[in-house]
Amino acid sequence: MPITGTTRLTGLLGSPVSHSLSPLMHNTAFQLLGLDYVYLCFDVKEDGLEEAVRGLTTIGVVGFNLTMPDKTRMVDLSDELSDAARLIGAVNTVRYTKGILKGYNTDGEGFWRSAGDHGFDPAGKTCVLLGAGGASSAVAVQGALNQLSTLYIFARPGSKRRAHTEALVCRLNEETDCHVILADYHDSSALRDALGASDILINGTPVGMSPDEAHSPIADASMLHPSLVVADLIYHPQETLLLKEAKAAGCTVFNGMDMLLYQGAAAFRLWTGHEMPIPAVRRTLAFSK
Ligand code: NAP
Repeated sequence: MPITGTTRLTGLLGSPVSHSLSPLMHNTAFQLLGLDYVYLCFDVKEDGLEEAVRGLTTIGVVGFNLTMPDKTRMVDLSDELSDAARLIGAVNTVRYTKGILKGYNTDGEGFWRSAGDHGFDPAGKTCVLLGAGGASSAVAVQGALNQLSTLYIFARPGSKRRAHTEALVCRLNEETDCHVILADYHDSSALRDALGASDILINGTPVGMSPDEAHSPIADASMLHPSLVVADLIYHPQETLLLKEAKAAGCTVFNGMDMLLYQGAAAFRLWTGHEMPIPAVRRTLAFSK
């Protein structure tokens, strides 16, 4: 579909953005559905975000995604926030309609939809999550909103985000029915006990990501048991050492590729009202590497 005088604008703000797969994902979906939209990338640092957002609203943007460092700053620039964006304290998707900028965070929704494809429903389940950064926070919040019963977050105590993580854990315990426990990433005995009682393990740290493929965030693979679903938010490599060892232990495993796809699909739905044609877009992303 050619760009015309009626083509509607969506895009990505952040810095850097040139490596992003989002333009390929969204523009493929627009073309396949014959929708008169385009998705472009704009390299915008945090100090330029307010001006960029004002400009985009002036020209009538439909909505946009944000990547670091703009996700947290967008919280203050939004007129309204979804529950997930408010609890996480980060916005990855904005919809602009009737003069209102509404901020959403679709990362956690993307992850749990991907888990659903593997037959996993978080309701009433116990989860171990490794890491407490941007992606982990989104997965934690949406997991709690989706009725996880217990969530163990194993994070490094010396982290510069510690205060932020502690505040997030308090908010989730106060505002959801999920019991959230913050544990020390280095406490292998607590980890073994938590994994023994858990239904799903999620790696939200970069340990095992290319080029550091020889490492797993679970140093002792005997902690993995066959009834555990094991997910890695990493998608490069497609199969991390953690996923290899979990597969060998008889666990159901999946990587972060569909989280990426489904967080985009959720944004696509917010902007267009249409479902993204997932199988065709997934094939296009696979061929792009
Ligand atoms: P982030 O905000 O920097 O958070 C990283 C987290 O991992 C922090 O809790 C950090 O702890 C911890 N960590 C870092 N290095 C560690 C190590 N060597 N040992 C133990 N913990 C460590 O990063 P992010 O954006 O959340 O990304 C995390 C992972 O998720 C990356 O692999 C990324 O590729 C992946 N991801 C996937 C998707 C997807 O769509 N599939 C989306 C976003 C991210 P400290 O605070 O102590 O440093």
